[in-house]
Amino acid sequence: MECEDCGSRNVSRRDIEGHLLYECNLCGNLEGDDRAVMLIEELRVGRERGIDDEVIPLVSVLESTGIFKIVRASAGNPNRNEAPVVLFQSTKSDTAPIENLLRSLELANRKTRLLWLIELSLQHAIVYTLRPRFWRPPSDVSPDDLRVAQKDLVVLARQLRRDLSLSWWR
Ligand SMILES: [Zn+2]
Repeated sequence: MECEDCGSRNVSRRDIEGHLLYECNLCGNLEGDDRAVMLIEELRVGRERGIDDEVIPLVSVLESTGIFKIVRASAGNPNRNEAPVVLFQSTKSDTAPIENLLRSLELANRKTRLLWLIELSLQHAIVYTLRPRFWRPPSDVSPDDLRVAQKDLVVLARQLRRDLSLSWWR
């Protein structure tokens, strides 16, 4: 088999992050199931930017709008008592994209284990903070709560990606 990208015949079939794909040993091009290839490429680009694995899909879907700019994204760390958080800005001055995002979040919150909310703060411009709500003091949040929040990140990304293809987002 030849690499579609560079033509090299040095292509191996291997397990990459749980997906069986063909990888070119020369240029790194991936072939196989389109969805799996997309996921792995998204993961690789995210890792190069130093973004935590669990939050990469959410960062990717927010950026895919062409409207939201990520300021900081973290998947948190259950062992250090850190919760996941995504800080972002809107490049549009009107509130329509944020209204859409809040509508999506309301729908997504039916699928997530925790309730996620967006807070606003002013740091030169408005910065939006997407975070989970634990309904208890920060000192009582357990590593298990934080692992639940990390799993929610993937659910949020999936729900937002689905909504973005719907007419009311465009
Ligand atoms: Zn190649």
